[in-house]
Amino acid sequence: MKLLRLIANLGYGSRKQVQAMFREGRITDSDGDVLYADDPARHEGVQVDGEPLDPPIGMLVMLYKPVGYTCSTKDQGRLVYDLLPPRFRLRNPVLSTVGRLDRETSGLLLLTDDGQLLHRIISPRSNLGKVYDATLARELTGTEAAAFASGELMLESETTPLKPAVLEVTGPRQARVVLTEGRYHQVRRMFAALGNHVESLHRSQVGGLGLQGLEPGEWRLADAADQALLF
Ligand code: URA
Repeated sequence: MKLLRLIANLGYGSRKQVQAMFREGRITDSDGDVLYADDPARHEGVQVDGEPLDPPIGMLVMLYKPVGYTCSTKDQGRLVYDLLPPRFRLRNPVLSTVGRLDRETSGLLLLTDDGQLLHRIISPRSNLGKVYDATLARELTGTEAAAFASGELMLESETTPLKPAVLEVTGPRQARVVLTEGRYHQVRRMFAALGNHVESLHRSQVGGLGLQGLEPGEWRLADAADQALLF
């Protein structure tokens, strides 16, 4: 592969636009020497406008999703992609959200362009715990933990029961829930099935990976140490 194609695939622009960037001398090595469109593709030491090239395929982004953003590429309103550099949306292969969080849910959202990694994180078979903190409209009754753990809880309009989930009571109207599957609006529907209503929901962890160092709306790339915390 040529450097031109690699850089275009990373979303910096169309081939034509990236050609122009080469001509303008904006693509250099780390000593500032100009590189050429026909140079073989490589990552190390390549800079665009003096900044290191974005990571190659296999990147994992950790985003602190605020309430009010949608996990979609084309909905009306604010999108989680608006919180990332615009070129991330133009990458090939595409950068997808790893599952979804509702518009009204905040917390850790992962995005990746690595299909295998994505599948591994969301597959119930991986048994990866996703930790949610919920605030409820009504006080907990004390029966919720057993219902969630039973493996028999059914969500409305579904035909298979949920896998057992862990619920820890953290306040009169607060609970921490750990799920290993990710059905549509699952936490909200689990509490609805027990006659309660989720007022606010926050995902604090995926596997062992949390939000340390991130404020709402901020993101960073997961490094090897972060990835090791996942599984
Ligand atoms: N469960 C929900 O109800 N919403 C989310 O965003 C995630 C899990």
